[in-house]
Amino acid sequence: MSAEDSPLCALEPGRKIIIAIDGPAGAGKSTIARHLARHFGLLNLETGAMYRAFALKALRVGVPLDESSGLESLAAETTIRLESSKVEPDNPASGEQENRVFLDDEDVTGLIRNQTVTDAASRVSVFPKVRAWMVRLQQLLAADGGVVMEGRDIGTVVFPHAEVKIFLDAAPEVRGLRRFDQLGPTPPAQAEEVIRDLRARDLRDRNRADSPLKPALDAILLDSTDMTLKEAVEAAEGIVAAKLNLTAPRAEAQTHPYAVGS
Ligand code: C5P
Repeated sequence: MSAEDSPLCALEPGRKIIIAIDGPAGAGKSTIARHLARHFGLLNLETGAMYRAFALKALRVGVPLDESSGLESLAAETTIRLESSKVEPDNPASGEQENRVFLDDEDVTGLIRNQTVTDAASRVSVFPKVRAWMVRLQQLLAADGGVVMEGRDIGTVVFPHAEVKIFLDAAPEVRGLRRFDQLGPTPPAQAEEVIRDLRARDLRDRNRADSPLKPALDAILLDSTDMTLKEAVEAAEGIVAAKLNLTAPRAEAQTHPYAVGS
């Protein structure tokens, strides 16, 4: 299904919907957002990749990660572009990949998932001027709607009028172990270390003065602690369908070859 053909896009003539998915690291946001985008024929935008790309630039240039004015000047001379893989009707695997992110026109998609950049992204994202710049970019990216956007402040700040808001959470140990499992057969860190880093990021995200991580008042909370990712995906799909008074196209969903739980 293409974004143009999506039943969700036709709810109001001329207006396409926005689904906001927020929550802490490891809650399953990316898997769920990608699935919803594919399932409902929307684009998927991962805003964390934008903060990561900016953090990569700060590390490369050597701007201190705790210096607001230096980061602000850096932002003024930086372009960040996010590309969502489109859902192609003839290719069932399309739309499943992570976003490609371009930093000053360089594709840095493969360079932003390591621990150094992860930690730096969490640090640079506390500064209001950096956030204001990112929020503007994100609003422009999704100005036409028809998207699932995931992050920490989408339902509260970036798109407070999003049609559907889901706040996804899970116990820190569960999220940490999911992250650890994703590191593959030779993980660069112990499980305890992964859980500790995740808690540190959580703390920073939840306690920053500007746009702290918290559910929007009208967000639907989904706690996936005791769910498999497949169950969480189905629950999220049900939330969207119920919120929009749709009958979720279950038969189609079952044929999707999603690597849920990977
Ligand atoms: O989602 P992801 O883990 O890729 O995000 C990296 C970091 O970027 C997060 O730890 C968070 O501090 C920050 N972030 C944010 N607001 C967003 C998305 C990400 O502050 N909307």
